[in-house]
Amino acid sequence: MERSALLALIEQQLQSSQIRDYCPNGLQVEGKAEIRCIVAGVTASQALLDKAVELGADAVLVHHGYFWKNEEPQITGIKKRRLQTLLRHDINLLAYHLPLDVHPVLGNNAQLAQKLGLRQFSAVPGVSPVGVLMQGQLEQAVPAEVIARRLEQELGRAVLHNSVLNKPVRTLAWCTGGGQSYIDAAYQAGAELFVSGEVSEQTIHSSRELGIDFMAAGHHATERYGIAALAAFIEAQTGVRCHFVDIDNPA
Ligand SMILES: [Zn+2]
Repeated sequence: MERSALLALIEQQLQSSQIRDYCPNGLQVEGKAEIRCIVAGVTASQALLDKAVELGADAVLVHHGYFWKNEEPQITGIKKRRLQTLLRHDINLLAYHLPLDVHPVLGNNAQLAQKLGLRQFSAVPGVSPVGVLMQGQLEQAVPAEVIARRLEQELGRAVLHNSVLNKPVRTLAWCTGGGQSYIDAAYQAGAELFVSGEVSEQTIHSSRELGIDFMAAGHHATERYGIAALAAFIEAQTGVRCHFVDIDNPA
């Protein structure tokens, strides 16, 4: 299909031009105009690009692309090699950051809700962009350890659990990736447990002093599912082959 039609389809779905972000969303590096094969992954790392070349991809579709605010603008080292790989093989780079975190169905947060066993959930009001912090209630309160084990099984990695309430929890809030600083907003929203991808030293103190359980389940691990869902959506809508490639990352 034409790249322009693919970009229009994704824009219609994610409304990415409506969301203010720290990086450009959409086409970040231009390649060929006709797209027959897409490789999708969490981050446009060299390993993902090499895989895209190997699979003959016309486009790479990621959650973490390039050109972040405050990034050094020079094209040297790692950045040179990555861009050289894309340009040499005429591969498009499409990146969707916050629009893919917040989408109510395909988004990372919506996808993590499924892993948490939540069927109904909503955006925490007053937190921008809408949907970056989500909340939901389990059908019944369960020990937080049960949620931690469930997440470990679903995500295939260890979960850091800072247990403070020592009682079954029912009200959850979450933000995938590097969302640990939303712990205060999660507490304000009434959550008993806050789940994010990453942890900072201060997150543990906030958890202890606010009295809210906290889990860090991995930035990469919590953000695999949005881009995979977007890739599946594109394949179903257009018939273009989309390969989701998971490049393991323990962070
Ligand atoms: Zn992220």
